[in-house]
Amino acid sequence: MSARSGIGYDSHRLGEGRRLVLGGVEVPDAARGLIGHSDADVLTHAVIDALLGAAALGDIGLHFPDTDERWRDADSVGLLREVCGFLSGHGWTVLHVDSTVICERPKLGPHREAMRAGLAAAIGIAPLDVNVKFTTNEGMGFIGREEGIAALASATVERG
Ligand code: MG
Repeated sequence: MSARSGIGYDSHRLGEGRRLVLGGVEVPDAARGLIGHSDADVLTHAVIDALLGAAALGDIGLHFPDTDERWRDADSVGLLREVCGFLSGHGWTVLHVDSTVICERPKLGPHREAMRAGLAAAIGIAPLDVNVKFTTNEGMGFIGREEGIAALASATVERG
């Protein structure tokens, strides 16, 4: 058995007239949403990069370039599902994913279990093997000024 871990990071800018989608869950009480070529789901993008990193298979921009019209307003959880199929085709099994969303507002805690369940279903592992954490940036920097939201993730995979 060979086990590996990978990291992922992403950030997107907040703007008017956009839905706030994190881990595939639309946050209903958000005043603004994230701007991007796809649905700008920063958490799912960080998880995708952690998985691709663990398997040493590149990054999200390599597989889903934002110059490609196919990925306009794409459902990022669908991209995650596709990436997991790609890893599986290379013989990798996903063991665990951990993540942190860094967001000043709104409070995301009430949506944690829905994000976990949705990400786990897309990856094909149990919700107990997916962790989603939330923190603020204590008012500092672009996140503190509510200009954007960032996410970090790590993933562990194994190949027999
Ligand atoms: Mg992104």
